[in-house]
Amino acid sequence: MSIVVVGTIGYDTIDTNHGGVKEALGGSGSFFALASRFFAPVSVVAAVGTDFRPEHWQLFRERSIDVRGMARIDGPTFRWHGRYHEDMNIRDTVSLALNVFDGFKPDLLPDQQRADYVFLSNISPDLQLHVLNQIQSPKMVAADTMNHWIANERAGLLKLLPRVDLLTLNDEEARMLSGESNLVRAGRMILKMGPDTVLVKRGEYGVLKFSKDTMFAVPAWPLEEVIDPTGAGDTFAGALMGWLARSGRVNESILRTGIVYGSVLASFCVEKFSVERIAALTWEDIEERYRAFIELTDSHHSRWMSQ
Ligand code: AMP
Repeated sequence: MSIVVVGTIGYDTIDTNHGGVKEALGGSGSFFALASRFFAPVSVVAAVGTDFRPEHWQLFRERSIDVRGMARIDGPTFRWHGRYHEDMNIRDTVSLALNVFDGFKPDLLPDQQRADYVFLSNISPDLQLHVLNQIQSPKMVAADTMNHWIANERAGLLKLLPRVDLLTLNDEEARMLSGESNLVRAGRMILKMGPDTVLVKRGEYGVLKFSKDTMFAVPAWPLEEVIDPTGAGDTFAGALMGWLARSGRVNESILRTGIVYGSVLASFCVEKFSVERIAALTWEDIEERYRAFIELTDSHHSRWMSQ
């Protein structure tokens, strides 16, 4: 089953203590689509400017990502500049320019309106709602958000949440949205705002899932070196939604497997700057790390039981 995603497509400038990149392909929609394409067909709703480079159209098309819903608008493409601290779980936004996304109100294509799986990735809650309002009868609506929107468009976000089945956000954002410093209390509080499932992303410490009756936690795949955490969250969501769409239904067990696939893809994302690693990834890479991930977390593994 196919997925529709709305989110930013743009150019990122990233500084870290060990180097950086200028004007590299980024945006929540880019990372999401490059991850979800391994599992299910994905169609992107976004705006790019006249300066969006031909090789990037090609990069999406060559990876079977449906770009018919990517409007080319007169003006500059979305830009973001971020700077990571020595502790790479912490970053500052140096600058943010919505550019062609400012006031963007797309009309979805008829086949996009019939999508079963919808991901409202990080973008203004107004635009997230505008897209959701056009989807006829979605099976699953998931959304992501960011400190910028929680601080500046809180009312819009609170209007969106009752219509969302699953919300992903990072730990700092969960605290900001709920006003609770304890993450478990924050997760429970956000459940009351509407979503049935809340996934709190904790960078190198993994993911915590909250739903009414259960909690579930997975670690991040331990890496010796993290080059660039940008897009890890969107990559995580892309693989998770991809897995749900591929499964064709959603239950606790399918969600948990999806969270593991999300963590696997996110671990590849951070190994290189921008989309470099996930654009070059193969299905064999994914399966190999998936198996290793299961082994990493399986305390009843038969190989050790027999010793
Ligand atoms: P993540 O690291 O998963 O939070 O995603 C970072 C990506 O989101 C970058 O590639 C940025 O281009 C994009 N981004 C940064 N700030 C925003 C924002 N306020 N709204 C939408 N996208 C953003």
